[in-house]
Amino acid sequence: MRIVRFGRGSWGVVEGEVIRVTRGPAGPFTGKKVLLSEVKLLPPARPTKIVCVGRNYRKHAEEMGEEVPPEPGLFLKAPNALAAPGADIPYPSFTKSFHYEGELAVVIGRRMRRVPEEKALSYVLGYTCALDLTARDVQKTDLQWIRAKSADGFCPLGPWIETELDPSDLALRTFVNGEIRQNSRTSMMIFSVPFLLSYITRFMTLEPGDVLLTGTPEGVGELRVGDEVAVEIEGIGRLSVHIVPSE
Ligand code: MG
Repeated sequence: MRIVRFGRGSWGVVEGEVIRVTRGPAGPFTGKKVLLSEVKLLPPARPTKIVCVGRNYRKHAEEMGEEVPPEPGLFLKAPNALAAPGADIPYPSFTKSFHYEGELAVVIGRRMRRVPEEKALSYVLGYTCALDLTARDVQKTDLQWIRAKSADGFCPLGPWIETELDPSDLALRTFVNGEIRQNSRTSMMIFSVPFLLSYITRFMTLEPGDVLLTGTPEGVGELRVGDEVAVEIEGIGRLSVHIVPSE
């Protein structure tokens, strides 16, 4: 099932070219239908927080000149960072090094607290594509990564939540202006999705709609005004945004 959020905050399920409208992310159906091509999609989650993991692919840690961590290196993005599929993202005025990071996103379906690894996936609503946009220069100079990772528009998410999916070995590709820049598989993660969920919920309750960004593979790089950046994940689809001049 593909769950979308659209318009002024409606929810629905995509069936071919049609959205069957639902009362919330998990139904029930209202009986109304709209055409997918006629609506503006929104980020398909309303998280209280977005938990992210850095350095979760060995070759990305290497390209950053960093060690593979013994435990997940977590940080947060706030909900203001969310951006819709197809959004225009202004190049931030405070950076000279704006990077894309294509990532698999996990959307939580049921409240999670101290959930063992073997049960973790049963709490997941589904999976979508994310871009962990990053101001790389201020990531190195600021004490915490609030500007670097959590400015407005720094977390494009979508286009929908795919609920029937095994996250353990999916192709993940990122394109800039149609040129492939990242090409890996989720099987290359250092810490798996069930491990990450179990690890986080030892100390932090995850609420329905919360989002986990699972880290990016090698091939991160610069974005410039005018670029189209897209991430494609096998079994989910394609998320793209445009970088536009600073506000
Ligand atoms: Mg990242």
